[in-house]
Amino acid sequence: MKAQVFYGPQDMRLEDVPIPSPKEGEMLIKVEACAVCGTDVRIYYSGHHNVKPPQVIGHEIVGTIAEIGSGIEGYDVGEKITVVTPVGCGHCKYCISGKVNLCSSFRAIGYNFPGGFAEYMILPQEAVRQGNVIKLPSNASLEGSALIEPLSCVLNGQEYLNIGFTDTVVVIGSGPIGCMHTAVARAKGASKIILADIQAKRLEMAKPFGADIFVDSSKEDLVDLVRKETGGIGADVVITAAPSGQAQEQALQMVAKRGRISFFGGLPGDRATITLNSNIVHYNEVSIFGAYASNRYNYYEAAVLLSSGRVNLEKLITHTLPLEDLVKGIELVRQGEALKVIIKP
Ligand SMILES: [Zn+2]
Ligand SMILES: [Zn+2]
Repeated sequence: MKAQVFYGPQDMRLEDVPIPSPKEGEMLIKVEACAVCGTDVRIYYSGHHNVKPPQVIGHEIVGTIAEIGSGIEGYDVGEKITVVTPVGCGHCKYCISGKVNLCSSFRAIGYNFPGGFAEYMILPQEAVRQGNVIKLPSNASLEGSALIEPLSCVLNGQEYLNIGFTDTVVVIGSGPIGCMHTAVARAKGASKIILADIQAKRLEMAKPFGADIFVDSSKEDLVDLVRKETGGIGADVVITAAPSGQAQEQALQMVAKRGRISFFGGLPGDRATITLNSNIVHYNEVSIFGAYASNRYNYYEAAVLLSSGRVNLEKLITHTLPLEDLVKGIELVRQGEALKVIIKP
């Protein structure tokens, strides 16, 4: 089989390797589609503390079950599935409550374990045991279902925000994640959605996902605009979907009393400190939430949202490429030419 193997920063090699054979408790997955994530771009250029080369990366995976190792019941060869990325220890407080993404021995498919940029992949025993294989409806689109993983992260982040009919929502950052936040906030009934980005080209690509107002915040003062659009009150919900400390600081300046802020996008490790006027949080009863990865149930929700058509993300997929072109796909994402690139091994 063909596999793209990551050997180190900017060293990805297309190799011919034997199809692995599943041992007891493991499953062999035929990868049907695997989307390129922003994290894959960062791994390709700078490496990642959880990725020890040589390794196959890729974690936004749709596949079919190709072979089932001994000792596994309840699955059939040929079933269409998505793979849940986080693998926990299975017995800590977080794992037991389903929040495997918060387990302190969190490992992940496509990082610590081989991922989806290959024709086949093995799912390790602990992942199969923890239920990291989610069956998809037979009508689920193979390419579209590669968006389940990032959508599951968006759903995890919005779980804290209680978006409702009277809410004005501001999303800062109009990349694929910002587009998904917009589409989900719309599905939850938000009354007005303001989507901001500092790149006009990206804002243009984000047009189909349901925002009401598009703001080029390199030209317009976003805080002023949000105040104007809300009669001076501010936004009920602000989601920062960009790795920008400035966006996080702005969020606090534009949020309404009793507003909710999601620091969805992480910051670079060496610039992770921001200035926060804690009296705004105190007097205005503002809540600030984090978000990191997602859990199994969020994958299930994402699959339902997509297959029911409540959220339509088809236009997010701007490129579909063969496995040979993975590096080209990574480049397209990095340059902002693409929203989502799907690799079809
Ligand atoms: Zn991802
Ligand atoms: Zn755990």
